[in-house]
This record gives sequence, structure tokens and C-alpha cells, in this order.
Amino acid sequence: MKYVFLLLAALFIFGLAVFMGAPFSFDTHDESGQAVRSETEESALPEPLNIPFLTEVPEPNNPCSNISVPEEIQQKRSDLADNIAVLEKRTEKVKDTISLSFELEKGSPDIRAVAFTIDTGTGGSYGITELLDIAAYYKIPLTFFLTGCWVVENPELTQRIVRDGHSIANHTLTHLNLADVSDERARYEIEETDRIFRDVTGFTPFLFRKPQYAGGERITTLAGTLGKISIQGYPDFGDTTGWRSGSSKEGVLGRITKHTAPGAIWVFHNLSSSDLSAFEDAARFHLQDGYKIVPVEELIIRLYGLDGER
Ligand SMILES: [Zn+2]
Repeated sequence: MKYVFLLLAALFIFGLAVFMGAPFSFDTHDESGQAVRSETEESALPEPLNIPFLTEVPEPNNPCSNISVPEEIQQKRSDLADNIAVLEKRTEKVKDTISLSFELEKGSPDIRAVAFTIDTGTGGSYGITELLDIAAYYKIPLTFFLTGCWVVENPELTQRIVRDGHSIANHTLTHLNLADVSDERARYEIEETDRIFRDVTGFTPFLFRKPQYAGGERITTLAGTLGKISIQGYPDFGDTTGWRSGSSKEGVLGRITKHTAPGAIWVFHNLSSSDLSAFEDAARFHLQDGYKIVPVEELIIRLYGLDGER
């Protein structure tokens, strides 16, 4: 009799646990030890955060009066070492195997994964903390395309981006249109940004995005000689177009949900109120639809089968 009671009690506790969900869903972890979404979590999303954003995003202050990184910032990068090691491991996988002078618009259509990239444009940190909070809540890794000037202006935020397990990428120093400048100036824009990234994080990005996607093959090749893969977006550059005047949250979401596909690289701007307010719903849409949101490097690794498990 005692055993029957114990059995019933055990069944009741098991049933309750299954009902509650959590105890029997196991988190997996990526190489950095950051939690990534488990299969169970994908089908059951938590309540939305619904963070409010300003309709008028504050104008950036004019960055880049000084592009040297203070010593005390440089010293703080030592606690990023574990996450930088993960970024470097991904870099090596890609660098050793494929030639660098190319432009990527999308990942493999065969794998249900997309990348969410954040472009900081000419400057301004508005919305970045909230995007990081949303990303942490849903455990989704993002890829940040940052200008060197932005990193110099926001070194601690840049370090938090890395600490939170996100990827960082070179978006030139001053966000100028590279189609209009000499090779020498373009090289300076990319190399100075690399130097700033190294000073602030210890990492040299191999992902690169041309401001306004401008500069064509000349800049793709030049970036390749500097060890960079040029990343665009998909389809029609995958840009949400939330930066356009007259854009809206609904317009951005409609564009994303209509056009997204396996391998898509979506480009969000933190200085777009429409992009910021659509971001969480865009993430929920993909997760509910069975997509994984992955760093851009993962799309490349999977596209070329570089992880040996394609
Ligand atoms: Zn940009």
C-alpha cells in the first residue's frame, strides 16, 4: 500500500513538472557557455517584453573627435577573453577554407536559420541596451555591424555586446560612401576600425559591411585583401527599410514576414524607431516558425559545410 502511495505521489509530481514545462526542458549551450534556445523553448515562447521605444530616435552626437582608446578601456577587455576565443574559432573555420574576396547575400536555403544584424549607422547608441535585453530574453545571438567611431564613443557598450555572446563586424570608421573615395581612404576606414576593435575587445572582425552597400566589386576585393567577407542582406539586401522616413513598425514587420526565408540576413538599424519597435515581433515570428536565429558566421559555416556536420 505504501508503495502504491509513493508511486501515485511520484506520478503526480511528474505530471505537475510536465505541466509546468520547465524542469524537463534542457538548455543547450554553445561553445562560449552562453545559453541558446532549446527545442522545447522554441515552441513555447515567453510573454512578450513589449519595450516601448521613442517615435523620434535621438540624433547621434557627432562622434569621432578622438579615435584613440583610453588605457582603462583597453584593460577591461581581458574579461572578454572566453567570448573572443569563440569568435576567433569561428573566424578560423571560415578563413582557412574559403577565399575572402567575396560578397555574401544569404546563407544556405536548406537550413532553417536566419541572421539578425544590427547596423549602428553613423552613430548614436539609442536602443542598443534594449536590443541586448530582448536578445538575452530570447537567447538569440545577434551580429552587430559597428563603425569605428561608434565603438570609440561606446566602448563599454561594445564590450557588453561581446560579453553577451554576440558577434561584431566592421562597418568602416565614419560610415562614408566608399564608392566616392580612393582605395587608400577606404583601406584607412577599414583598418582604423580594426585597430579600434582590437583595442576595445581584442578581436579583429572578418565580417564587413559597406555603408549604404556602396562601392561594388572594387571595395569587395579591397576588403578581401584585408581579410574581410562583405556581408549584404537578402532579399533585396534584406534591409528592413525601417530607416526610411514614413516607415512604420507594421511596414517593417510586414516586409520581414513576407520576404524571410532560410538563409536570410536581416539588417536592422538602431536609429530607426520602426526597426526597434518591430524587432521583438520579428524575432518571435521566426522562432515560432521554427527558425533558428544565428550569427552571420554560422550561416557561412553551414552554407559551406565547414562544421563537418552538414
Ligand atoms: Zn550602415
